[in-house]
Amino acid sequence: MKVAVLRETNPNESRVGLVPEGVKFLAKKEIQVVVEKDAGLAAGFLDSMYEAEGATIAPDAASAVAGADIIAKILPPAVEEVGTLAKGHILICSLQPSANLEVVKALKDAGVTTMALDLMPRISRAQTMDILSSQATVAGYKAVLLGANAIGKFLPMLTTAAGTIRPAKTLVLGAGVAGLQALATFRRLGARMEAFDVRPAVKEQVESLGAKFLEMELSADMEDEGGYAKELSKDQHEKELELIAGSVKDADVVITTAQIPGRKAPILITRAMVESMMPGSAIVDLAAETGGNCELTKAGETVVHNGVQILGPVNLPASMPFHASQMFSKNLVTFVLEMRNKEGNLDLNWENEVLDGVCVTFQNEVRHGPTKEALGAAS
Ligand code: NAD
Repeated sequence: MKVAVLRETNPNESRVGLVPEGVKFLAKKEIQVVVEKDAGLAAGFLDSMYEAEGATIAPDAASAVAGADIIAKILPPAVEEVGTLAKGHILICSLQPSANLEVVKALKDAGVTTMALDLMPRISRAQTMDILSSQATVAGYKAVLLGANAIGKFLPMLTTAAGTIRPAKTLVLGAGVAGLQALATFRRLGARMEAFDVRPAVKEQVESLGAKFLEMELSADMEDEGGYAKELSKDQHEKELELIAGSVKDADVVITTAQIPGRKAPILITRAMVESMMPGSAIVDLAAETGGNCELTKAGETVVHNGVQILGPVNLPASMPFHASQMFSKNLVTFVLEMRNKEGNLDLNWENEVLDGVCVTFQNEVRHGPTKEALGAAS
């Protein structure tokens, strides 16, 4: 078996799908790796580091994929890049199929087998292959650094000869993977913390990180089978806004991470709430790419309203490419091994819910993802 690692062509992407440590691991399983020249450079991994672990370096994408079975990438290829791939190649990347219909169609037409790691089923066995979780960990951590950097205050309490500084107050909305990592990071920096989530199950996790959980009455079944939140009713949402308004007004940094899969992110911070905040405070909206949790968020921009900064970062994991790549790579390597049978041969067994769940295109058909109608409309 041979894996080809391609260099990302999107100028905003600095991660790489497989790091040298992954090459070493695969080599032990007798899986060879070929790396496109400079594929890991932007993430801090030199070609020589890949070679030291037994990989070969190819001068371009076409020569990297020639003879490879598996193609490893972070982002989906651009439509024009699909021509480099051939029938039977197994492409592993993040895909967001419903947002990338033209690429899905091109991959289907080319006969490429596409494994979208962002569709990983949320079962405990698959946690080690879950790129949404690993990359959300990076985003939650980085959001705290952005927030801390945006305010003109210390986060921890300080007792100095020049006076005593009160710790900053922080609020995290949405205590999933990113939100819990944000709390853990705020804790390390000594901030006071409050958090809210519609899934009452996370109360304990929030409290174990030293944060106060904002409580409102909600039924226990706010979670679907996948562990994701369900959308609130209009009435519940109004109550939620009231609860948040009470906490947001004296927060120095607010981090929002709330998402409902397949839907626009819920608005949790209204314009009026922003206007109730102190100038100099900051909101970091991790849901910016899906519409934002704050009414004033603009994806990819920092909006300043009444002296409050509202940051809408996009693709935060790419801003920490070394560890984001290392974690993505670990997910990808585990998935590559999942595709092998006991004899060590490639075996796409569709009874395996992990393989079945992530496979978007196979033998010129779409297995999961966009419907024929949606793909037809994209062509
Ligand atoms: P996510 O990114 O979809 O959402 C982030 C958080 O926002 C969630 O905690 C959600 O409950 C919350 N939220 C949604 N609407 C809200 C609202 N109106 N107000 C406040 N909060 C709101 O979620 P995620 O972080 O990717 O994962 C959610 C959960 O899924 C995890 O905590 C975990 O239990 C589960 N999970 C399981 C696996 C696995 O078993 N393989 C992997 C990852 C996550």
